[in-house]
Parts: sequence; C-alpha cells; structure tokens
Amino acid sequence: MTFLSKLFLTKNSKIGNVISNEKIDKTKVEIAGKIIAELQQDMQDFVENGSGPFVAAIYDDMGNLIVKSANSVVKEQCSNNHAEMNAIKIAEKKFGTYDLSSFNLKMYITAEPCIMCIGGIMWSGIKEVYYGVPTKSVENITGFDEGFKPNWFKEFKDRGITVYGNIEPHIGIKALRNYVNNGKKIYKPSR
Ligand SMILES: [Zn+2]
Repeated sequence: MTFLSKLFLTKNSKIGNVISNEKIDKTKVEIAGKIIAELQQDMQDFVENGSGPFVAAIYDDMGNLIVKSANSVVKEQCSNNHAEMNAIKIAEKKFGTYDLSSFNLKMYITAEPCIMCIGGIMWSGIKEVYYGVPTKSVENITGFDEGFKPNWFKEFKDRGITVYGNIEPHIGIKALRNYVNNGKKIYKPSR
C-alpha cells in the first residue's frame, strides 16, 4: 500500500464492504441496500430493451423517487448517455433548474460512477451518492474503461457531497457477469 492510498483510507470509514467519506450511518446503508438491489433487478429488464448494464435513480429527502434511468449509449448513439447523466438531465428538466442543491437529492447507482459521471454529479448539486459495484470489479468483469479518478471521495467531501460505496456489491457483480455471459455489447471507443 502506498502512502497516498493509506492517507486516502484513513480519511474514509468502512464497515464490512461499505466505505464512505462520512462516519457510516447504518440506516442510510440499509435504505441504499434495498434501493440498489431493486435497481440491479431493473437493470436486467433495461438490458433486455437495449440499454447498457447500469442504472441510476434519484430520490428526494422524503424517499420519493424522482427519476430512474439506465445507460442508453448504444440505444441513442451518444457516448454521454450514462445512467447517471441521463438521470441528472431528467431531474433538472423536471425541476426546471441546472442547480439541484436546494432539493437535497440522493443518487443511487448500480456501480461506481465513471470519470464523466463523477463530474456530472459534482456539477448537478446532488447531495448524496450511493453505489453498488466498485470500479475495479466493473472493469475486471466487463472490460469497460471507467477512467481515472484520483481521491474522489475526498474531493466530494470537500464539496459537501456524501458518498457511500460497495453496497451489496455481490448482487451487482452477478448481474454484470450475466451481461457479459449473455454476449451483450461492451461499447467503448476503439484505441
Ligand atoms: Zn459514467
């Protein structure tokens, strides 16, 4: 372990698989576990309809679903259309603003956001982020390139955004393996 990764770990908290950039709140983990498990189920249906194997949902503070969206890169032929970006676009249209800060929104995602979506979330005003499968597993299983993202837990914390990761990852890992085993498309630019 390098000095930097040690420093990174000491600033986060960890219980079991779950890591966070705040002191872990078990109620939040429990709620996120239920929502993300549901999203993993939904993902299989979305994939049947031509979507990519990632789903994001935005909820308000009262637990109301604002939007649920899947990756539509192939379906809509747009490399920006990751699940998180689609969900943000729909939510901003719904609220009629580019700044979601005052709505105290939470985003739940089946997998850790990529470099683009980390940026998208950061500029949207979403306050809390919860994800299932960590990037390393996504890349190992699928071959997708999730980009580089140094110390984003800390960068989000500095901007007042809470992150919880590795929530029920085994469910998402199984779903991604199914995607690959069913011969579904791994879309990315050729290098
Ligand atoms: Zn993304």
